[in-house]
Amino acid sequence: MKRNLLFILALITVMAQGQTPDESAIKQIFDKALVDGKSYTWLHYLTTEVGARLSGSPGAAAGVEWSRHELENVADSVWLQPVMVPHWIRGQKEIGRIMNTKKYGPIEVNVCALGSSVGTGPAGVSGTVVEVKSFDELKQLGERYLKGKIIFFNRPMDVKSVDAFAAYGGAVEQRGYGPSEAAKYGAIGVIVRSMGLNPEDYPHTGGLRYAPNIPKLPAIAISTNHADRLSKLLKEEKDVQFYFETHCETLPDAPSFNVIGEIKGSEYPDEIIVVGGHLDSWDLAQGAHDDGAGCVQAMEVIRLFKILGIKPKRTIRAVMFMNEENGLRGGIEYAKQAALKKEKHIAAIESDRGGFTPRGFTMTATDPIKTKIRSWKPLFEPYGLTDFSQEGGGADISPLEPMGVPVLEFLPDSQRYFDYHHTQEDTIDKVSRRELELGAASMTALVYLMDKYGLN
Ligand SMILES: [Zn+2]
Repeated sequence: MKRNLLFILALITVMAQGQTPDESAIKQIFDKALVDGKSYTWLHYLTTEVGARLSGSPGAAAGVEWSRHELENVADSVWLQPVMVPHWIRGQKEIGRIMNTKKYGPIEVNVCALGSSVGTGPAGVSGTVVEVKSFDELKQLGERYLKGKIIFFNRPMDVKSVDAFAAYGGAVEQRGYGPSEAAKYGAIGVIVRSMGLNPEDYPHTGGLRYAPNIPKLPAIAISTNHADRLSKLLKEEKDVQFYFETHCETLPDAPSFNVIGEIKGSEYPDEIIVVGGHLDSWDLAQGAHDDGAGCVQAMEVIRLFKILGIKPKRTIRAVMFMNEENGLRGGIEYAKQAALKKEKHIAAIESDRGGFTPRGFTMTATDPIKTKIRSWKPLFEPYGLTDFSQEGGGADISPLEPMGVPVLEFLPDSQRYFDYHHTQEDTIDKVSRRELELGAASMTALVYLMDKYGLN
């Protein structure tokens, strides 16, 4: 109560400077996040002390314990929601080699297995490389040409696309579905050009999805630089052979949890606003931008409400989803439980595009709800958020969408995300404290307005 009073007194002071109540409330949120924010401190611990958090790993379990503990310090109530998750392990470091070039001899290549791939085991896989840019090209070449070959998917992300996520969307099917497409024509292995926009020497992992009833081919990613080099070699020489060895395997599903903390609403406790990120990450680094950033920003929403003494009318719930990267089991389980309990979610907001400078929010909702949210745009413009035009919510909250829940995603600047995404480079030193805090404040401001005005 005392805190609430302080918030109101502070509001009155700022309002005296000519601001509307909403302008001053949002200013206080941003001020607090920038002066006294905790998201970076949290992210520093999560990335450096907990580390990589692939589903089913000890790191993921430690991430669950850590976020529960931290949420307990800020939320009214915290609980773990059990969910069984896929348990894929990379095993020992992969080997990759271009074997028989006439000009250069063998060339060692830095490779990583794609998530959920079967391994080759110690025997490895070797064969003639065939480069393709599309599934159509694969089809045209057909089984006669592709049987027994290693397929190299080398369609780059479109650098002309200013929206890096659109460029990703235009290329990522090669990683996701390439292995099963190649298997249809009798190929024996798959190499995918990393999903990155820059020339880099390190590969990007990421999930693949095997189609049912088709042989599962082992699949790896190579860096964009090595992809260019391999492609050049294939133009210079006939019958370039590649060898790779991976030791990854899928173990039985493992028990894990979504971590949930909430502040109960004072007037409409049954109306829930979810903010979330995913706690799991790939195993090659610390999962700083993907998606430790989203988790700590969601936690910070709860903390900022508390520390500013804002008593929400509706229930504000932070969810750290498990297993976005290779299964989405946490998001699916959350929606399933919400349906079983007949919970009323008035909106869900995810942050899973990195902890970069805020630009706006994407949204999938009815037209009246979009109009309402967009009417708040002038309140965000002073903080650099101007893009409220795009469709979309985050992956983890997508299972809520068919239930009629408006879904939104925090939209930060997209230019650097794919330099780090799913790589060894996704570490805390790539995160700007200030940008991360601005993102947390942006999410808090949006939740503040949704809570105050509702969405109907
Ligand atoms: Zn992510």
